[in-house]
Amino acid sequence: MTKRKRLFFDIETSPNIGLFWEAGYKKNIDSSNIIKERAIICICYKWEEEREVYSLQWDSKQNDRAMLLKFIEVANVATELVGHNGDKFDLAWIRTRCLFHSISMFPTYQTIDTLKIARNKFRFNSNKLNYIADYLGFGQKIKTTFGLWKDILLNKDKKAMEDMIKYCKKDVILLEKVFSALNKHTESKTHYGVIFGADRGSCPECGSDDLVRYNARVMASGIRRIQYKCKTCNKFHSKTDK
Ligand SMILES: [Zn+2]
Repeated sequence: MTKRKRLFFDIETSPNIGLFWEAGYKKNIDSSNIIKERAIICICYKWEEEREVYSLQWDSKQNDRAMLLKFIEVANVATELVGHNGDKFDLAWIRTRCLFHSISMFPTYQTIDTLKIARNKFRFNSNKLNYIADYLGFGQKIKTTFGLWKDILLNKDKKAMEDMIKYCKKDVILLEKVFSALNKHTESKTHYGVIFGADRGSCPECGSDDLVRYNARVMASGIRRIQYKCKTCNKFHSKTDK
């Protein structure tokens, strides 16, 4: 099987349906009030360096099992899964629904979470994908209202489902753009050069040998780490000196 690069993904979820005695501020809803469990409505994804954004959705009975089986096949051939809050939200949701359906998954995936990068490395006014995308000039997410979720969940409205997929796909496109910008400031987690047959000394991002060497940092252990900049993709990386 050919090795695939990064997979950008986003999910949309349905709320629980439940019974409650009274609406209002600061109310408690016990889990025993749930009459229909929440599920995943759709998963949209795209491979890095490819144009097409794919979508999967729950079936006509609003069962997300078949969709998850398909998505796990895709996720399992990805080298890295990229999501905005993907670790704690999207992937955790997917894992919880796979657990429910007894669908097996890898215990861990190599992930890149753009929310974590945004929090750890930058100081944005807001760490929401919408804000960061707009700040970087990539545009904004499609606006939605809660009515869209209601139309899908309660009326099985086809147009609402199309709108939801469109919204989810746009998020995946923004996610890739935001990732590509932040990526230049982050350490690689994967050596794509080696994956695609280049030497270990090449650029981890693109496998190029055309590198500029910067000053070494000598760690407390005495080990020297040298910074390089790739002239092909402009990304920095550091490597232990032998
Ligand atoms: Zn490079």
